[in-house]
Amino acid sequence: MAEIVGRAGVVGGGIGGLAATIALRGAGWDVTVYEQAPRFAEVGAGITLAANALTALDVLGVGESVRAAGVADRRGLARNQRGRVLVDAKVSDFVGGLIALHRADLIAILAAAVPSECVRAGSRVVGVDAEGRIETDAGTIQYDLVVGADGVNSVVRQQLWPEAGAVRRTGMTAWRWVLDTSAPDPVGVILGERAEAGVVPMAGDRTYVFTAARPGISTLEYFADWPDPLPKLIAGTDPARVVVDELLEIPVPKRLWKDRVALIGDAAHAMRPTLGQGAAMALEDAVTLAACAPDLGRYSAARRRRVATMSFLSQHGTRFTSPGSGTLAALRDAMFAATPNALSIKMFRLVNDRALRGWRPPTR
Ligand SMILES: Cc1cc2nc3c(=O)[nH]c(=O)nc-3n(C[C@H](O)[C@H](O)[C@H](O)COP(=O)(O)OP(=O)(O)OC[C@H]3O[C@@H](n4cnc5c(N)ncnc54)[C@H](O)[C@@H]3O)c2cc1C
Repeated sequence: MAEIVGRAGVVGGGIGGLAATIALRGAGWDVTVYEQAPRFAEVGAGITLAANALTALDVLGVGESVRAAGVADRRGLARNQRGRVLVDAKVSDFVGGLIALHRADLIAILAAAVPSECVRAGSRVVGVDAEGRIETDAGTIQYDLVVGADGVNSVVRQQLWPEAGAVRRTGMTAWRWVLDTSAPDPVGVILGERAEAGVVPMAGDRTYVFTAARPGISTLEYFADWPDPLPKLIAGTDPARVVVDELLEIPVPKRLWKDRVALIGDAAHAMRPTLGQGAAMALEDAVTLAACAPDLGRYSAARRRRVATMSFLSQHGTRFTSPGSGTLAALRDAMFAATPNALSIKMFRLVNDRALRGWRPPTR
């Protein structure tokens, strides 16, 4: 049997924590993952995974299963709130490699790659120290490495990074849900004045719908006069299936490690979903951590600038997707109108290929 590198405790069994568990086990660590919920689960919504997320999932050995559960190639429109087409493209032409799937399917695939003896479900972590001790109701256990993957309200971050700053409330609201019917045309995104929306086909004849709105907009009725098929999709939805969240973000700490503890995912850098990169960053963190551990300084150096940049772009990207005024939205739309469709696609593809498709984890 291969020699064990050390013992690792992962706090949180979401996308980031499960990915870190798989990656660290692959690197020879003996891993235990603590999840406060009685079983691994996700909210009832879809998720889009960009090329970098899929590269990380390939490193974990589950990329093909995730691709098989998702929908990749399709035509999509970017329109404005009045229905004017801003960009008309095949998704593969402009954000090559992006797929959409149900969050529950993603979690199920990740969880299936974690042996049950590694899992402490229904186990809430109440304390962590920099020397690697994890405390739950059942007692305290010492680890060589602790991974804080416990999401935006992270206990690990609050206890060990008190200087990093509090969770920032953006005042923006997001609504997301899945319909058990196939997506009606036209699918794609709608960029409004004070909100945005998306209609995304999913496998199994299902449709993922998301909307996000600036402060002051508190109901889905705001979208009643938006372009088809959005109003119909809203009207045909059981409100009980809609997941509603205020968007939260956190300032990225200067260092993503302290002694034996590393932060990953939303615990380190929860960001607005403007670019659809939160989970992708958590997956990148997980495989990078496994390549670097136990050298957590190397992990932090490999990740800090990238996640801070993505967080910054996600924060300021909302000025573009929902600028907050009719004048600013008209300026954005005029910019699209002045740019030929083929050029818009080429520019998006260039950025996507360099920033996302080109990402590779460091070697061990
Ligand atoms: C509206 C919206 C849309 C989004 N869309 C996308 C998208 O399309 N693509 C994308 O890449 N990203 C997207 N994201 C971001 C993505 O959802 C998150 O970045 C990702 O889920 C973070 O995963 P995580 O594992 O770090 O944290 P979480 O998913 O928050 O997981 C943390 C886990 O830790 C557990 N936990 C918490 N505290 C404790 C404790 N004390 N003890 C034990 N367990 C604990 C929780 O129960 C949870 O299971 C979106 C986010 C939002 C809000």
